[in-house]
Amino acid sequence: MRQATQTDALAAAQRLSAAAQEAVDAAIAAAARRTDGGKRIDDHQVHAERIAQLATAARAARELVAYCERRAEAGKRDALAEEQAFVFSAEAVHTLRAAAEADPDAFDGAAERLEDGELRATVRAGLSEARLRAIGAQVLEARGAHATELGDAVATLTRDSARSFAKTEVAPIAQEMHRQDHLVPESLIQKMAGLGLFGCSIPESYGGTEMGYLTMVVLTEELSAASLVAGSLITRSEILTRALLQGGTEEQRQHWLPRIASGELIVGICVTEPDTGSDVASVQCRATRGESGGRAGWFLDGAKAWATFAGRANILALLARTDPDPAQGARGVSLFIVEKDPFDGHSFVQAQPKNGSITGTANPTPGYRGMHSFTLAFDRYFVPEEHLVGMEGGLNKGFYLQMGGFAAGRLQTGGRATGVGQAALEKACAYASERKQFGRAIADYQLTQYKLGRMATHVAAGRHLTYAAAREMEQDERAAMLPAMCKLFASDVAVWVSQEAQLIHGGWGYSEEDPVARYVVDALVLPIFEGVKPILELKVIARQLLAGG
Ligand SMILES: Cc1cc2nc3c(=O)[nH]c(=O)nc-3n(C[C@H](O)[C@H](O)[C@H](O)COP(=O)(O)OP(=O)(O)OC[C@H]3O[C@@H](n4cnc5c(N)ncnc54)[C@H](O)[C@@H]3O)c2cc1C
Repeated sequence: MRQATQTDALAAAQRLSAAAQEAVDAAIAAAARRTDGGKRIDDHQVHAERIAQLATAARAARELVAYCERRAEAGKRDALAEEQAFVFSAEAVHTLRAAAEADPDAFDGAAERLEDGELRATVRAGLSEARLRAIGAQVLEARGAHATELGDAVATLTRDSARSFAKTEVAPIAQEMHRQDHLVPESLIQKMAGLGLFGCSIPESYGGTEMGYLTMVVLTEELSAASLVAGSLITRSEILTRALLQGGTEEQRQHWLPRIASGELIVGICVTEPDTGSDVASVQCRATRGESGGRAGWFLDGAKAWATFAGRANILALLARTDPDPAQGARGVSLFIVEKDPFDGHSFVQAQPKNGSITGTANPTPGYRGMHSFTLAFDRYFVPEEHLVGMEGGLNKGFYLQMGGFAAGRLQTGGRATGVGQAALEKACAYASERKQFGRAIADYQLTQYKLGRMATHVAAGRHLTYAAAREMEQDERAAMLPAMCKLFASDVAVWVSQEAQLIHGGWGYSEEDPVARYVVDALVLPIFEGVKPILELKVIARQLLAGG
């Protein structure tokens, strides 16, 4: 019965994505043998990165195919998505075979699985430029817009209202906020707070709206399509919320979560330091026990870097060393909640009565403006003992709480990146339809259609990988692999698609006045934060794959 509803494109996509997965599984098994189950990744970093990328692409292909299958089963085939699934699965197999052929020893025969003549012919059909041009023509007709079926009524309603909110409240201010490097207006924060958006992962019992991960992701995607900054406003509260739910005491949850949910407290995250980035376990900012004004607590000393929104924030989630022995690494750091006043400029000094202080200076950036990312110096800044997340039970457990928070942040970044990629695609379609050169709209040229076809296909693959990560996190909040994969893949897509969109705009795309120039500089940050791309590949994705996860 199901066979009868499948198109040729879907059947081909199924065959190819299954072949890609089978070859990736064989490549992972070979790499696991080489690296002793991932323990010796550092002796094979280049290959481990390749495995992470290939496995991620194969998984994206699988998720795109799975979406088409769900639609076919529901009797509502999505012909465009089926074509995209075919093309993307063909690309995944093609890339895999090229990698395996270039280094057959490392792949240990995995390429042989892709030698089959019929499979090769299917790959060629999937990669045919005519197929991609036809996808491009369809995408142009819809001006890049998509109507992906979410299969979830709440998520669908949220997407509709977030889309109209983003159009009316965010889009009109996004370009000027970027160009003038203004802080996001308080009125937008208040409107988002009024809609309960800061509490979207907080259970109702703590005053939140706990929408579920899929809803949170589509909401983020829509806001980010209008402005990456608007789509990023809830990320920090999301990270601290997760840490509090995982490791906070009941009293702490009751104290902090309702105020985060209402938007009364805006959160900044302070993990990175000037000399410590990816190697989070080596943070040097230290917390020393002490007393101030008759209260027991901790004094914070040291520097933090790149703390986004730390000026406007009224609480900072800060990772500090509580065990002075550096050999303790990840087992010697704790997570603190630091209260401060909100500031709206590019620098601030927060002083305490007994000479404690935080000094903050914003780092100028080409994109991701509107929240400002600060370098901070902490000098004997006092926090009471109840601000140690988990109290004594949380002592030296901060690293693990922070990492749990980052998984939710990465999922959200999959949504942010998909939103930026989608915005760039739509902008490119609109421009290509209007711009005429050599007597024709540039949308009429084969190359434009081919490019838009590929761009839309990759955006769709990133979207379905991100939605799959959201569904997985709904089943298991400790899931780490898919959130990392969606962050990795969708961020790369946003970078590439925004640059292609800029090229389609020619010189006008290089103008500060055109949003496409903003999409390009905004997208560039996506592969950097929450695990810079090589670290995400090696230390999260490859490590887990090669350990058999
Ligand atoms: C705009 C912006 C906003 C940010 N917001 C925040 C925030 O709110 N809070 C916060 O705490 N942080 C924030 N960050 C910091 C961000 O999370 C870090 O930049 C990121 O984790 C990488 O750390 P790093 O910059 O020190 O790079 P490094 O760790 O120094 O890595 C740089 C490069 O070194 C190489 N490398 C490093 N280690 C290895 C290895 N083991 N093997 C192979 N290669 C390696 C890789 O090529 C890597 O890309 C932000 C950053 C930016 C740019």
